[in-house]
Amino acid sequence: MQTDTYRHKGMRRALVRQLREKGIHDERVLKAIETVPRHYFFDKAFVEQAYQDKAFPIGEGQTISQPYTVAFQSELLQLKPTDKVLEIGTGSGYQCTVLLQITPNVYTIEYNRPLFEKARLFFRKHGLKPHTFHGDGSLGLPAHAPYDKIIVTAGAPVVPKELLRQLTTDGILVIPVGDEQTQKMLRITRVGENEFTREEFTDFKFVPLLGRSGWDGGA
Ligand code: SAM
Repeated sequence: MQTDTYRHKGMRRALVRQLREKGIHDERVLKAIETVPRHYFFDKAFVEQAYQDKAFPIGEGQTISQPYTVAFQSELLQLKPTDKVLEIGTGSGYQCTVLLQITPNVYTIEYNRPLFEKARLFFRKHGLKPHTFHGDGSLGLPAHAPYDKIIVTAGAPVVPKELLRQLTTDGILVIPVGDEQTQKMLRITRVGENEFTREEFTDFKFVPLLGRSGWDGGA
């Protein structure tokens, strides 16, 4: 069983200071990052890496996102404690655990079976209760729609229309879209039945979103 010591907490406070310096200011998000022991998502040998502002391999060719990316996407979501949130790309479960510090109503879907099983076990072991699903999240999770917020944690070739349909009015989708090298972070807000506003932010580099509306769909 991993422990969360004063040293880890100190490393997290330092990480949060760095995130503030890089422009993150949503206090709920910063508090969540300060609360979640990111080293729990790493093998013991890599504890030092857990509190660097870097992505890190989690197996199956996938990564745990960089803390700045997690903070940036979470901030764009303008999260409230009453939000129903869908995360696409559970991966290690870190982003989901950050979301759970702000709202208890989190749905998360992962395409890769071994990562899905590992994350589910992690949540159970730590008494966390997101709604976990295995499958192609590029199509969203229509059975439980609509969502106030949708976050995609893999790089998409286009904005999947299915995700737009699964937003509530005033709902927000945060998704990196681009080619396989870089993706622009987009925030899309549903302002009416068929009306959306779109904001563009800086470039990021994500692993590819697979599936029918991802890179497997021939989009
Ligand atoms: N949110 C994760 C975390 O906190 O560790 C990081 C996610 S990693 C950058 C991207 C994840 O998206 C990978 O685990 C990958 O298997 C998953 N993924 C890719 N395409 C997907 C799809 N169509 N549906 C669901 N998950 C997908």
